[in-house]
Amino acid sequence: MTPAQGAAAIRDVIVSGARSAEEICREALVRIEQENARLNAFTAVGAEQALGRARALDALRARSRDALNALPLAGVPVAVKDNLCTRELPTTACSRILAGYRSPYDATVVSRLESAGAIIVGKTNCDEFAMGSSNESSAAGPVHNPWDLDRTPGGSSGGSAAAVAAALVPIALGSDTGGSVRQPAALCGVVGLKPTYGRVSRYGLIAFASSLDQVGPIGRRVEDVARALSVLAGEDPADATSSREAVPDYSAALTGDVRGVRIGVPKHLLQEGVDPDVLQATTTALETLRARGAHLVDVQLPRAAYAIPTYYLIATAEAGSNLARYDGVRYGARAPGTSEGALAAMYRKTRDLGFGAEVKRRILLGTYVLSAGYYEAYYVKAQQVRTLIAEDYTRAFAQVDAIALPTAPAPAFRLGEQVNDPLRMYLNDVFTVSANLAGLPAVSVPCGLTRAGLPIGLHVTGRPFEEETILRMAEAYERDRGAMPSPYPDGA
Ligand code: GLN
Repeated sequence: MTPAQGAAAIRDVIVSGARSAEEICREALVRIEQENARLNAFTAVGAEQALGRARALDALRARSRDALNALPLAGVPVAVKDNLCTRELPTTACSRILAGYRSPYDATVVSRLESAGAIIVGKTNCDEFAMGSSNESSAAGPVHNPWDLDRTPGGSSGGSAAAVAAALVPIALGSDTGGSVRQPAALCGVVGLKPTYGRVSRYGLIAFASSLDQVGPIGRRVEDVARALSVLAGEDPADATSSREAVPDYSAALTGDVRGVRIGVPKHLLQEGVDPDVLQATTTALETLRARGAHLVDVQLPRAAYAIPTYYLIATAEAGSNLARYDGVRYGARAPGTSEGALAAMYRKTRDLGFGAEVKRRILLGTYVLSAGYYEAYYVKAQQVRTLIAEDYTRAFAQVDAIALPTAPAPAFRLGEQVNDPLRMYLNDVFTVSANLAGLPAVSVPCGLTRAGLPIGLHVTGRPFEEETILRMAEAYERDRGAMPSPYPDGA
């Protein structure tokens, strides 16, 4: 029994009593210990806390098997991105400025996972404050892609995607502001879902760009992602932007039936800049869905060309404001030798030492686009274009039930290859940022490998709160695709 077999299988052997939660947890911890030296996917592992929880679940089973059986993630080892607050483990968002920071509370998604019986085994590496597409801006160093250690796992939730791809855990949480769950999922050959804005609570997610941020699950299979979403979704009084919309049983939506589903394909976005193997694999995946009875329809998203500049104006503006709180007073680290006596110097030095280059670039851009004289030209304009991009989707969704594209224009690139060219790096997000700008749900599901053996992801966007439709499509495709090859020769 390994995490490669998925959350449901793990849960079932624990509930049946065939294996104890403690045994499963120990195995996961051993594998993390062995693999993390190569992958650098975890920034913290909470072995003692995890084993304590596993023993508590075993004790619960001894008292009442029914009580354990009521937990949808009973004994399932889970990892969470290091920008999600945890009381029992450090939370640094992979920034030096939060070195040593301990949150006094758990993020809502963390408590929900634990109430569902999941065991949080550790925190995963990510780009600093989730800003990046390659995991190279992390203060904890880059994550290595399990398919090729010289390559990026994608970002910013690179640690979560790599941990799932390497079968260290069956499910991990990421956050997605412009693609950070879906793009690393695609580059690591796993499934990643960004829910509708408001579907999942952001309470305890360290804010990057609050109008775009959502927490989302990553798993080996759609089934695990659906199971996790059923646990994570729902209203939270602690997050005023969380939705009251009823939470369906997402697992029950995975019927395999996509007959009559209309899939929009914006072909005009695929004319240039997409790797030929990526194009080929996504086209084949769509043909597979057509063979299952779905209809492929050509749709237009005329304003999509403006998505990247729009996103990088809004995201940096919000980031500049959100990151103003890191001043050496309230959270985390303070520059040595400074004090409240000389406040301005303390702020400056703390922020100078505490933030990395990419985060500083974003704060500078964000401050600029919000400054007097430029605000109307950049920020207000970007908000207007954001509305137009959302309108393109509304119009397209009058004709189709979902929109399909590749998740990323190219497979995993080499570490170091793009990190000194921010504009090139930002283009990795060309197919993912629109879902955030429009607040829509979107999933990335693996659809094969390039000729060089690197994973490719198919991206499916849905109408607001129609996660069931896109998960059903992704899972139906998965049935015909069959098992993805594993980056590990033993299949683990
Ligand atoms: N790559 C995008 C960025 O750098 C998205 C990041 C994210 O979704 N957190 O902003």
